[in-house]
Amino acid sequence: MREAMARAEVGDEQSGSDPTTNALCARVADLLGMEAGVFMPSGTMCNLAAILVQTRAGDEIIVDDQSHIYNTEAAGAAAIGGVSVRALPTRNGLYTPEQAEAAIRAPQRTAPRSALISVEQTTSFSGGSIWDLAAMRRIRDIARARGLKAHIDGARLLNAVAATGIPARTYAEGFDSAWIDLSKGLGCPVGAVLCGSHDFVTEAWRWKYRLGGAMRQSGVLAAAGLYALDHHIDQLAEDNANAGRLGAALAGTPGLAFEPEAGQSNILSFSVAGLGVPAAAFADACLAQGVRVRALGSEQIRATTHLDVDRAGIARAAAVIRAEAERIAAERG
Ligand SMILES: *Cc1c(COP(=O)(O)O)cnc(C)c1O
Repeated sequence: MREAMARAEVGDEQSGSDPTTNALCARVADLLGMEAGVFMPSGTMCNLAAILVQTRAGDEIIVDDQSHIYNTEAAGAAAIGGVSVRALPTRNGLYTPEQAEAAIRAPQRTAPRSALISVEQTTSFSGGSIWDLAAMRRIRDIARARGLKAHIDGARLLNAVAATGIPARTYAEGFDSAWIDLSKGLGCPVGAVLCGSHDFVTEAWRWKYRLGGAMRQSGVLAAAGLYALDHHIDQLAEDNANAGRLGAALAGTPGLAFEPEAGQSNILSFSVAGLGVPAAAFADACLAQGVRVRALGSEQIRATTHLDVDRAGIARAAAVIRAEAERIAAERG
């Protein structure tokens, strides 16, 4: 990847003349079955630009209560777009079409205008659950019928593709905007590509520029994305399998509790509530043994697999997590 970056043909992205960035955008747009794409510095900027283009101040957007938009984008939609966020209660980031339908407000002088609905495929903070295609499409169709735009936060969309075999363009079909992250499972240092219609991308570009996201010789970065699409896609299936292996190896560990659908993609979430220690303390204990997991809230641990963790690494991670759980259980028992 570093070599591909060094060799990249470059131009000026701001004027649309960086050939490598243009090639990446065209490639991702094709992957998602969209007319056009725009290279962004991050997935966060993709979500923000998609919201800013498709809403106006005083509007409301609908997301799930575990979503990245709601929890970890520093309230960008509110701070920059003047948009309020309606977060639907979910257990694992998947809401139902009925919930979506009920959350869309009837036009009323006194109510915010429901403008956009977002689906996160796969879910992130809630453990990598995979949205069922039929449910996504029902939500898309409900949104359309009620005059809302439909958006896919596809940070890990390609992990869902690897898990289900359903093409990315099938998931994205009929949605107004969708993006993939290059810096998650694809292993690039920087970047994401936001796609939609030509008109949408023209407006997204305006926001990218306004937010300070326009670049110059971005081909150096885009080359990493093209390299990843050529060489790292197969790895996503391996990452998914590794999360499953980690889950299987940890099954039955005292004090750890798994949701039934845990480990569907490249994320394995579990609760350490049964150990009686805060998740942050459990994560620190694992890190002291060389295994990095993330504490989410006071009880949940999230383990994410990726191209830097091979099968032997998974076995070691499982051994450390199990040993730490057993040690804590013994100390407290
Ligand atoms: C990581 C992530 C983002 C943000 O992407 P960045 O490239 O880190 O800004 C958005 N949504 C989801 C679901 C994510 O996992």
